[in-house]
Amino acid sequence: MVELARRLQNMAPSGTAAVFSRVAALRAQGADIISLSVGEPDFPTPPHIVEAAAEAMRRGATRYTEVPGLRSLREAIVADSKKRRGVAHDISEVVVSTGAKHVLYNLAQVLYDPGDRVLVPVPCWGSYVEQARLCGADVVLIPCAAEDAFLPDLQVLARELALGAKALVLCAPNNPTGALFSRDYLRDLGQLLAGHDCFVIVDEIYTHLHYEDTAPGSLLEVVPALKERLLVVDGVSKAYAMTGFRVGWLLGPEPVVRGVERMQGQATTHVATMCQAAAEAALLGDQGCIATMRDAYRKRRDLICAGLQGLEGVDVFQPPAGAFYVFAGVGGLLGKSSETRILETDLDIAHWLLEEAGVAVVPGAAFFAPGHIRLSYATSEAQISEALSRMQRAIARLT
Ligand code: PLP
Repeated sequence: MVELARRLQNMAPSGTAAVFSRVAALRAQGADIISLSVGEPDFPTPPHIVEAAAEAMRRGATRYTEVPGLRSLREAIVADSKKRRGVAHDISEVVVSTGAKHVLYNLAQVLYDPGDRVLVPVPCWGSYVEQARLCGADVVLIPCAAEDAFLPDLQVLARELALGAKALVLCAPNNPTGALFSRDYLRDLGQLLAGHDCFVIVDEIYTHLHYEDTAPGSLLEVVPALKERLLVVDGVSKAYAMTGFRVGWLLGPEPVVRGVERMQGQATTHVATMCQAAAEAALLGDQGCIATMRDAYRKRRDLICAGLQGLEGVDVFQPPAGAFYVFAGVGGLLGKSSETRILETDLDIAHWLLEEAGVAVVPGAAFFAPGHIRLSYATSEAQISEALSRMQRAIARLT
C-alpha cells in the first residue's frame, strides 16, 4: 500500500480531464466520438507567434530567465493591461507562470491558510475549489441561478462577506456559463467589496472572447480603488490559441507578487524561455487573429444554441455572452431510460451521450452545478451540426 500525503485526499481530480481520458480511450478502441468537452481553441496558433518561438530558440533564448519572467514580456503585459483595463501596473506587480492554472495554484498556496474562508460562486471552473481545498481552506460555494444570468446575488454575497473571507474568486467571461458582468453590476460589487478586507481574484482568461457589441468591463477598470486587493489572472491560452505554450500571468499588489515569486522560485522557476518570447510576440503583434477567431466562435455559438433549443428536455437559458461554452439544463431528461441505463443524474446523461450517441460533454457536477451539461463550441460548425443530430436521435430513443 503506497501512502500518499493526507492533504491529497482533500482534492478531487479534474472532471474535465476525466472526460478527456475517457474520450481518448474510446477513440483508441476505434469509436467515432465528437468531443464537445474540450476547453481549448481548435484553431492553429497564428504563424507569427509560432515563428517568434522558433526565432527565439535560434537566437539562443534557451536559458533561464528571471523567476517572474522576461522583463520585456512583463513590460508587454503591463502595456496590454493598461490599454484594456485603463489602470497602470508597474512590472514589479507582474509575475508570469505556467498558464493561468498555475497562476491560480500559486495564489492559493500563497494566500490560503487552513480554515480560511474562500468564496466561490458556482457554477465555476473546478480548479478554484480543489486548489483551495488542497491548502485546507474552507470553500464556500455560492450558487448562482440561471434566472440571474448565473451572476452571484449581491445580497447573498454581502452576507457571506460579513462572516469574513480571505478571498472571493470570480471568472468573467465565465467557464462554464459564458456569463459576463455588466459595468453596473461591477460598480455595485465594488461598493460591496469596499467595506471588506478580502482579496478578489478575477480570472479573465476568456476576456477577449465576448460576443456582444461592447467589450465586457473588468473589475479593475470599473473600480480602480480596489487595485491593492485585486488579483487579475490572464494569459495567452484562449485568446491566441496557445494552450500548449503554458503562459499565464498575475497582475496584483507587490507583496502578493513577491510571495508568488518566492513560491515559484522553489517549484518551477519560470515559464520556458521560448514560450515567453512567443507570448510577447502575441501581445505585441497584430491583434487581428483574435477578431477572426471570435467571429467564428460567435457563429458557432448561434448554431449550437439554436440546435440545443430544439432538443426535447434541454434548456438553454440564454445564449452565453462570452467564452466558448454553453451550460445547458438537462433536468427534462432526468428519469428517462435509454437502452442501457436510467438517466438519474447529469453524470448518467454525460455517460449516455458519450457511449450511445458518440458525443462527449462535461457533466454539470464537475462545475458544482448538477442538472446541467457543458458543451464546448470550440470545434467546427460541421462537428457541431453532427453532434446535435446525434443528440436528437439519442433523445428520440429515450423512453
Ligand atoms: N481559468 C479558466 C476559467 C479556464 O477555463 C482555464 C482552462 O480551461 C484556465 C483558467 C487555465 O488556462 P491556462 O491554459 O492558461 O492554464
